[in-house]
Amino acid sequence: MNILVDTHTHTLASTHAYSTLYENITAAKAKGLQMLCVTDHAPGYLPDTPHMWHFRNMRDLPREVDGLKMLYGIEVSIMDTDGNTDLPEELYPGLEVVIASIHRPVYMPKTKEKHTETWLNIMKNPTVDICGHSGNPLFQYDIEPVIRAAKEAGKAIEINNHSFKFRKGSGEICRKIAIACKNEGTKIVVGSDAHSLFQIGKFDDAIKMLEEIDFPEELIMNLTAEKFENFLRERRAKQ
Ligand SMILES: [Zn+2]
Ligand SMILES: [Zn+2]
Repeated sequence: MNILVDTHTHTLASTHAYSTLYENITAAKAKGLQMLCVTDHAPGYLPDTPHMWHFRNMRDLPREVDGLKMLYGIEVSIMDTDGNTDLPEELYPGLEVVIASIHRPVYMPKTKEKHTETWLNIMKNPTVDICGHSGNPLFQYDIEPVIRAAKEAGKAIEINNHSFKFRKGSGEICRKIAIACKNEGTKIVVGSDAHSLFQIGKFDDAIKMLEEIDFPEELIMNLTAEKFENFLRERRAKQ
């Protein structure tokens, strides 16, 4: 399995991360990636986020650097069970990819029913392209109905490589989520969620798990830059 797009990366604009944009680009090129998505945290609610202007100015950045395609997006935090996020309306649709994730302390652990309701409502949120690191054991949900709703909504479920080691207990839940995606025919992406150049394009734990369950490659939207661009274009055209 060869994944050529990293859909989820942070620069030191989110201060819990450590590398510059150019360091990440250099690492992506060294890994042989076709495309790098820059997805720093949305401004406002998490304590480490860049200012709104940071996202607005991304339009001046190059679309391609020495053959590496660039996509400029955001990772937003889910605010409540109604499926609202902290995405500033005026920044959309200038953002080319939107990942919605649950982060403490913006959203604190609730019941399994409430987490399920949250993800089902996120599926109705037209700005969300990708559901980020939903395998976090602190925020478990009823997997089947959510994965089915993701398919109907045309959204991709992220298998987050960073979670396997960083979010304890995520590995088993990610496997259950991936099996449900395989059974339902729901699209996925694999993201590194890199917080430094050393993690850019690192998908080893996710790929190992996906290969173990014989996950169909046609459901992986970020195998190539072209496939990922088509996924985003088609998903957004339906809104
Ligand atoms: Zn996150
Ligand atoms: Zn992240």
